[in-house]
Amino acid sequence: MAKRKKLRKKVLCPTCDKFFVAQRAGRGLRKVQRCPFCNQDVLKPQSISELKTAAWQMFATYIKLRDSDDNGISAVCCTCGQRVAIGSKQCQAGHFLHGRTKGVLFSEMGVHVQCDVCNVHKGGNPDAYWPFMVRAYGWKNVGKLLIDQKRDQGAWTRDELQQIIRYYASRIVALPYGGLYEQRVENALLKWGK
Ligand SMILES: [Zn+2]
Ligand SMILES: [Zn+2]
Repeated sequence: MAKRKKLRKKVLCPTCDKFFVAQRAGRGLRKVQRCPFCNQDVLKPQSISELKTAAWQMFATYIKLRDSDDNGISAVCCTCGQRVAIGSKQCQAGHFLHGRTKGVLFSEMGVHVQCDVCNVHKGGNPDAYWPFMVRAYGWKNVGKLLIDQKRDQGAWTRDELQQIIRYYASRIVALPYGGLYEQRVENALLKWGK
């Protein structure tokens, strides 16, 4: 039986648009590859799930600051009224609707500050979230959100997620207390937002 030839992983250099064989580091591949043609460093492309997490973190930070009513320091849980400190594990960005479909995962209308008890232990506390939503947005808009939830918009692309990261980075720094987060946002953009 012929020995199966081991595939050698190739990398596309974004600077000069040429393929080269990836350099190895021990059993894996080097994290940063150097293009032999133009000598530029080529970073490993981020996975969709890494980008999704980064986009969620940026979005959730925006939601917490948007909902804060206290110099960006704390916010009130939309379903039980408890005040929670932003940055603590009690302060969470909680979805109104379950199911992380593309239509509602990053919906500003569908996500608000919740305490960990409501968000995690009470499964989003829907008994209180429904009346809050209807009061805040009206039945018509809540209905639109329900339709968005069902809409199948396919899988996420890197581009879409990076757009979300960039978009919420700019929204955060534009908020009244967003300046507090400028450095953190900049670091995240350097890492994810290209
Ligand atoms: Zn190159
Ligand atoms: Zn709560």
